[in-house]
Amino acid sequence: MQVPFLDIVAQDKPLKNEILKVIDQAIDKADFIGGPNVSGFEKDFASFCEVGYCVAVGSGTDALRFALMVAGVGPGHDVITVAHTFIATTEAISQVGARPVFVDIDPRTWNIDVTRIESAITDRTRAIVPVHLYGQPADMEPIKTIAAKHDLMVIEDACQAHGARYQSEMAGSIGDLACFSFYPGKNLGAYGEAGAVTTHSRQMAEQIAKIRDHGQRVKYHHDLEGFNGRMDAIQAGILQVKLKKLAHWNDARRHYAKQYSELLNCKNGLTLPTELPTCRSVYHLYVITVDNRDALQAYLAEKGIATGLHYPVPLHLQKAYRHLGYQKGDFPVTEKVAAGLISLPMHPVLEPEQIQYVIDCINEFYR
Ligand SMILES: *Cc1c(COP(=O)(O)O)cnc(C)c1O
Repeated sequence: MQVPFLDIVAQDKPLKNEILKVIDQAIDKADFIGGPNVSGFEKDFASFCEVGYCVAVGSGTDALRFALMVAGVGPGHDVITVAHTFIATTEAISQVGARPVFVDIDPRTWNIDVTRIESAITDRTRAIVPVHLYGQPADMEPIKTIAAKHDLMVIEDACQAHGARYQSEMAGSIGDLACFSFYPGKNLGAYGEAGAVTTHSRQMAEQIAKIRDHGQRVKYHHDLEGFNGRMDAIQAGILQVKLKKLAHWNDARRHYAKQYSELLNCKNGLTLPTELPTCRSVYHLYVITVDNRDALQAYLAEKGIATGLHYPVPLHLQKAYRHLGYQKGDFPVTEKVAAGLISLPMHPVLEPEQIQYVIDCINEFYR
């Protein structure tokens, strides 16, 4: 049996005609940048995230860069985040001129360890970027308390958490600003690059809308230097169609995650994802840690099962960040998780037999 890691073709098949109509209309009207699709999607996604404002941008990385800029982060500032994330989180920090400062992760959730944030704060610190990794929100209440105490901005990296909840709040509505990616493989994926910033602040939303469009609100009247960071109209139209399915897709992911968690045998040295009672994860990825990870991954590949590693080398040990001066051993939980993690197939159109087959193969490997 073949078990793909992702199956966007099968997932989107029922929407194909509606999506083709979006593309057809864009061609007929030569409507490619901005326009009603973009403003319509912004309205729909703001409402989905339970915030006042959504600004559609070119990618999740753009969203992070622009959010940091309007949060006032720049040269001379430190931004606290984790080394257990995708590099876009820290690229954005560096690219606005600031320095990423890492803290270790919580051994249960693999999100930022909130007990370690305060000791990393200095007078250079300007913001905290908690990452809702794999679809589970970071522990936002203590983060907001610490941020308020030290006058820091909180920017959620919600690029893996469309539709997740923390307590009663939606991911994307908890920090001062939040960033989403609609990279094709995300829980809500475009047919190309796309991203968004959400916020309750009208003033920050307006500022981001300027930054994404060369610093202009009125064409050729530039209040500041900005970027070419807009979402295209075809992507926005496709995302509007797909957004209607997101809640249903997230429910399916949660259902499959539950099946994995019930049936995988923890006696084999497996650690399964821990969902905190305060959180509703949307399982962008279903990640476990195991002994003999590389051998297991090779064995599963032989059996036709695609897996991934998110992420095998923590950021503080990447060549790109050698200049930050971190060393092996600085973040023991991060390093231990990175050495054992493996992402199992997870998407909304898995078949129950496929899940059973993955579980049987893993159990067989450890027998
Ligand atoms: C995908 C992702 C990003 C970047 O999004 P792009 O749209 O690819 O630029 C940032 N942070 C995290 C945690 C991500 O998973």
